[in-house]
Amino acid sequence: MKRYLCGVDLGGTKLSAGIFNADGTVVDKRKVFDHKDLDCDGITNRVIALIRELLDNNGIMDEDLQGIGICMAGHVNYKKGLLITSSNFKAGFNNYPIREKVARKFRTHVILDNDANAQAYGELMFGAGRNFSDLIFLTVSTGVGCGIIVDRKLIRGMTGTAGEVGHTIVDPHSDVMCSCGNHGCLMSLSSGQYLAGMYRKYLAAGEKSSIGVDLSNVDDFNGMMMRRGLEDDDVISRKVLADSASAVGIGVYNLFQVLNPEIFIIGGGLTNCGEIYFDMIEEKFLSLVKKMMYDKIEIRPSALGNSAGLLGAAALTLEQV
Ligand SMILES: [Zn+2]
Repeated sequence: MKRYLCGVDLGGTKLSAGIFNADGTVVDKRKVFDHKDLDCDGITNRVIALIRELLDNNGIMDEDLQGIGICMAGHVNYKKGLLITSSNFKAGFNNYPIREKVARKFRTHVILDNDANAQAYGELMFGAGRNFSDLIFLTVSTGVGCGIIVDRKLIRGMTGTAGEVGHTIVDPHSDVMCSCGNHGCLMSLSSGQYLAGMYRKYLAAGEKSSIGVDLSNVDDFNGMMMRRGLEDDDVISRKVLADSASAVGIGVYNLFQVLNPEIFIIGGGLTNCGEIYFDMIEEKFLSLVKKMMYDKIEIRPSALGNSAGLLGAAALTLEQV
């Protein structure tokens, strides 16, 4: 009987795999950190070995699985099961057929998707989105990821790269250039890798840091330091957080107008700044939406947190059931 779900979250630093019951409760899981310097085949073999080990340790047969869901940070061709490219690994990948390579070793079907889609689906099945059918999941961490669910189905586009909301432009006049080469992308105005630049702007304008950040060490400024700054009432940290929240609020507004979801679920490292971040996002959203909101809409934190990717990857095996 297909009573278990298997999920794999393949990240640049951490590789985790888990077996779950159909209700999302965990049977067993493992994580390793020894894959990141391997080549494409090496990483794939590490994934295969980890899944096999979990199955063997728990006496579970391939046939007992609903399937294996693999999620990874990168551009994924969902239909063909290819990893198009990912900046998170030394191995370049490059349309690498990871789904097929894993599928050859197991007598069950295998799904490959990007991590934001998996997290969105995990929230829908087991997290903050359980009672909803139209939701948008946004993660604001090193970058910005997004998974869009309409009528309980993931929107993937032609091959699977839909939802790249991080590169939607929220301020075309911004002087901040995104890694993609455009100016004012949501990612470049809100995510962790751009926080130092945001802090630098205020220092250069003459504002004083109360947590010892100056132009000589500002490149070290990150989300963790921002949380400390908020605790210490550092004015610049608060402004950086407000700028990030404002960009996310504009992103939420734009998505709201396009898709009319019931709920936005927001996860990722920056949400560790707490309720104040959500309040700022909501404030920006409401200032833009004015009287154009005809239905109740919620903005909530992720309920699955760090395990959203792994559980979400496992949940993807239920998608076609
Ligand atoms: Zn961009």
